Amino acid sequence: MNVLEDALARVERLGAEAGVRPAVVAGLQHPRECLIATLPLRMDDGSTRHFTGYRCRWNSALGPTKGGIRFHPQVSLEEVQALALWMTIKCAVVSIPYGGAKGGVVVDPKELSPLELERLARAYMRAMADMVGPDRDIPAPDMYTNARIMGWMADEYNMIHRRRAPGVITGKPISQGGSLGRDEATGRGAFLAIERLAERLERKPEATRVAIQGFGNAGYHLARLLQRAGYRIVAVSDSKGAIYSNKGFDVESLYQHKQETRKLRGVYCEGSVCELVDHEQISNEELLELDVELLVPAALEGVIHAGNVERIKAPIIAEVANGPIHGDVDDALEERGIRVLPDVLVNAGGVTVSYFEWVQNRQGYPWTLDEVRTRLADVMARAFDSIWEIHEQEGRSLRASAYTVAMRRLATAIESQGTREYFRGED
Ligand code: NAD
Repeated sequence: MNVLEDALARVERLGAEAGVRPAVVAGLQHPRECLIATLPLRMDDGSTRHFTGYRCRWNSALGPTKGGIRFHPQVSLEEVQALALWMTIKCAVVSIPYGGAKGGVVVDPKELSPLELERLARAYMRAMADMVGPDRDIPAPDMYTNARIMGWMADEYNMIHRRRAPGVITGKPISQGGSLGRDEATGRGAFLAIERLAERLERKPEATRVAIQGFGNAGYHLARLLQRAGYRIVAVSDSKGAIYSNKGFDVESLYQHKQETRKLRGVYCEGSVCELVDHEQISNEELLELDVELLVPAALEGVIHAGNVERIKAPIIAEVANGPIHGDVDDALEERGIRVLPDVLVNAGGVTVSYFEWVQNRQGYPWTLDEVRTRLADVMARAFDSIWEIHEQEGRSLRASAYTVAMRRLATAIESQGTREYFRGED
């Protein structure tokens, strides 16, 4: 089963269990539109290479579509579609007025020079310029894309349309209309969700050892906030492997060292001097199976599956990556009493602050960092509580409860549009 089939099966199963009208569930099984584009790229040596770019808008019942752009060699149409579907559910979970979309380019950005990367970002925007727009479809960063890349894309869009339209893309540099707090938003949102669950379960930070797969934007900010709150970060990883120490790591030292050397090593830094501390090198697979209280997959999808689910020991998993757990092992985890904080809640801080950025762009009135953080905390708390209420009252898993919240909201929006879908032959 590929990632899209897995995502569709989950929507079908959880939608039926939640009692959502079958026509609504059936409508969520298809994208609104997808564009596949070839992006010719002039390389620095004068040669030309061709890359494939995708953009899919899944569902726009709640508002203009929203979703990141991923630059990764494993990007595929199926993956982009699955991510667009999850964005639809996620925006509904946190109740922001957006539908779901996603985009990507099949490329290893580490192989490109900065100028090649800029030309690729601009080529992507040229190809998608008629599909995106501040009231239609609003991209953002995802894996291996960042504020700089969003800035280039925003600039390209402005040139094509001969006007400044900062609301066309979020996650921009602050100087181009980006929001304070956007860089940390996904990690902070995840932290808020984890804290709220810990409160409900009366779990103490000092007694919680954490393993985090993926020490990128989301993984790093979450690790930083958890450590500051008293959690012990005992393992982190990147694409090359993982490091483990039961004593715990100093997150800022790891980050500083990784920024300077591009290497993840168990170090403790004072100023610019970093010393190696006792730790083990382990694989990404071993990290997932560690005996810890909290496991955080924050890199790729599909890392917990039928082949390793029995060896997962953590009693709580917070899905910071999109889709890190295969749908066919949801039940196995639940039967073993493992609580899964689902991606559609845990990583929704990113899209929420992207929404705040879009609101600020439309108002032409930037908010302070405190305002952003306070409003994010409010959105995450309300989303968590609406899920927890169903979890408690209906005895369903946190994921099933999140999908129930989302699909009921989507159903209400679709039904409130009256019968226009019927006349058009749509569900
Ligand atoms: P990023 O590019 O900043 O970092 C990705 C990290 O994953 C890097 O540390 C990289 O080394 C690591 N990685 C790559 N391949 C790996 C592998 N095979 N095994 C282990 N680690 C690997 O990306 P990010 O923005 O932190 O996104 C991480 C995940 O969070 C993705 O699934 C993304 O969709 C999800 N997410 C991110 C945001 C956001 O705002 N950044 C929002 C929602 C969801």
